[in-house]
Amino acid sequence: MLPAGEPAYRAEQVYRAIYHDKVERLVEISTLPERLRTELAGSAEVGLPDLSARYESVDGTRRYLLSLADGRTVETVLMPEPDRDTVCISSQVGCPVDCKFCMTALMGLERSLTAGEIVGQVLFVARENSLLVESRRLNIVMMGMGEPLLNLANVLKATRILCDPKGAGISERRITVSTSGIIPKIAELGKADVRPKLAISLNASTEEMRQQLMPITRKWHLKDLMEACRAYPLRQWETLTFEYVLLRGVNDTDSDARRVVKLLANLNCKVNLIALNPGPGIPYETPDAGRVASFQAIVRRSLPCFIRKPRGLDIYAACGQLKRNSA
Ligand code: SAH
Ligand code: SF4
Repeated sequence: MLPAGEPAYRAEQVYRAIYHDKVERLVEISTLPERLRTELAGSAEVGLPDLSARYESVDGTRRYLLSLADGRTVETVLMPEPDRDTVCISSQVGCPVDCKFCMTALMGLERSLTAGEIVGQVLFVARENSLLVESRRLNIVMMGMGEPLLNLANVLKATRILCDPKGAGISERRITVSTSGIIPKIAELGKADVRPKLAISLNASTEEMRQQLMPITRKWHLKDLMEACRAYPLRQWETLTFEYVLLRGVNDTDSDARRVVKLLANLNCKVNLIALNPGPGIPYETPDAGRVASFQAIVRRSLPCFIRKPRGLDIYAACGQLKRNSA
């Protein structure tokens, strides 16, 4: 907090120093007078999360276990590629949504993250890897631990900070938020003036199967979810993404694929298939590559459909594997 009586532009100087110039100590804010620097440093703290552990995959993916001011830990993943870098960030410590195929679900919810803690993950990974945050190479996916739309206010605040030209200056087109389908929050997200792109975890082709795999959807029905998607105000450059985790013999048949096509008809969207990333405590198996390819071939006749390549499987960094494993 700035002391009372300071001119308003001081707040802007502090903001710029933290999010644009990325100072790590308040005494380093060179635009402030000495007196104010010392006063601020005595009464407030800035700083990035601390590194608790770091794991590197054979495919180059890096998983960071970061510890927050209260000692809780959260995971952030960097997936470097030749033409871009993707940082996968968490929105909560654990997750209250009890999806039966996801290891994060086994933790339950410890707490939601603040906007600063969400932004801090991006700045931490950027610093560690000398990534230029402002560069066009950097993409951010809010697909780590937690259900972002159950922490929407902080997710939106973090997005505003990340996108602010006076701050990190990242384009909203390079940020994606993924939700299990918290219907009223989808509409609220749509109203935000600065917002990430939207991805929806569909994961089943019928109401019954979706309720079995994602018990929260007993409250948020598939029909209403599709309605919310149709009503969602896409920007002219935007398409919706649907994610679909394929579980062997459960939701991966050709009939499922045909039903997915029917469900998504008339939506401006694409589909990302994710073959299950297995893990301890998860009672499902991964379909073989042939099954995944057949599923894709059916969907692709009607919609763009991609297979998400697992990244960092060997270090528990892939989708659904974030559970603070020490592998
Ligand atoms: N909570 C949000 C975002 C994080 S999960 C959501 O559910 O959308 C990111 C993606 O990983 C989701 O699409 C989810 O369905 C998928 N996922 C979860 N567990 C998985 C697993 N074991 N294997 C593959 N994908 C998984
Ligand atoms: Fe939470 Fe997403 Fe995992 Fe479901 S898939 S438990 S919503 S993190």
